[in-house]
Amino acid sequence: MPITPDQQAEIDELRSNPKPTLRAVAEGMEGHLYKAYDVLDHGFIRVIDYMGDDAAICQAARVSYGKGTKSVQNDEGLIRYLMRHWHSTPFEMCEIKLHVKLPVFVARQWIRHRTANVNEYSARYSILDREFYIPEPDKLAAQSVINNQGRGEALTGEEAARVLEYLKGDAARCYDHYAEMISDDGQQGLARELARMNLPANIYTQWYWKVDLHNLFHFLRLRADSHAQYEIRVYADEICKVVADWVPAAYGAFEDYRMGGATLSSKAIDCVRRMLKGEEVTQETSGMSKGEWREFEGVIG
Ligand SMILES: Cc1cc2nc3c(=O)[nH]c(=O)nc-3n(C[C@H](O)[C@H](O)[C@H](O)COP(=O)(O)OP(=O)(O)OC[C@H]3O[C@@H](n4cnc5c(N)ncnc54)[C@H](O)[C@@H]3O)c2cc1C
Repeated sequence: MPITPDQQAEIDELRSNPKPTLRAVAEGMEGHLYKAYDVLDHGFIRVIDYMGDDAAICQAARVSYGKGTKSVQNDEGLIRYLMRHWHSTPFEMCEIKLHVKLPVFVARQWIRHRTANVNEYSARYSILDREFYIPEPDKLAAQSVINNQGRGEALTGEEAARVLEYLKGDAARCYDHYAEMISDDGQQGLARELARMNLPANIYTQWYWKVDLHNLFHFLRLRADSHAQYEIRVYADEICKVVADWVPAAYGAFEDYRMGGATLSSKAIDCVRRMLKGEEVTQETSGMSKGEWREFEGVIG
């Protein structure tokens, strides 16, 4: 169950009591505030709070440029200029606070993004719910043969059934023993902080995660990318939808320059110039390694 009835009641209560404010409000974000969006089988993301909007980015940027910037005529143009030139601090003026429910093995990847503030559900203090991520059959894939850090075709037949059985059975058994060890029914009961070591990495945890827009874009650039693991990518994809409504101009620039753009090395730029002049450039004459050339071909089609 992604969201509990208590959590849903809290969301309904919060959304039914709008309060007037003098602060900047992003209409697109107001529609998302507090609501939970399901991710994977039991997870979700929801916005708890936010600060700033597209205008806040421009307001901060104009402090650095003063009155002299007549060349940048509108907010969207200014935001695109900032994104294009890696002038990142104005984007740090916007912040978002998310409540995320996610499997522990996804949390381990997520927590590597150090430029956020995190407060996680305590399994020393509380008992974790009996909820495990079990992949959909089409996500139960074999090890990739071309990428050591990726997956290939979905498992099929007897192997798929056996793997699914292991995942479900092992999680259930581990949780049964966890519950039995911490029980104080007729025994002292093992401390929760110790018993939790018996739990598998597909159990769900929850945290509040607060980050500024610049560092959120960095997170999304890496985790909404096709090379990111599917199970973290689906969270990043859901966050992208919220951010697109929150700061449409900044998100548009991010999509254009970061998600859709590419960085070319000086060797690659040299190859493009030679190609434009009509020269037939190959990997052997490019000065690039096979891997670089493959990625370069991916960029130029
Ligand atoms: C596809 C993929 C595969 C990965 N594989 C692995 C792996 O096999 N093993 C592994 O360990 N990790 C792996 N990672 C994690 C990766 O190395 C980064 O730790 C993670 O993406 C967070 O990036 P970051 O450090 O830039 O982000 P943040 O921690 O949010 O930092 C943002 C930026 O702040 C600066 N910064 C923050 N803290 C410091 C610091 N202490 N010192 C200097 N600069 C700092 C850096 O410029 C950094 O880019 C992988 C990530 C991806 C996306």
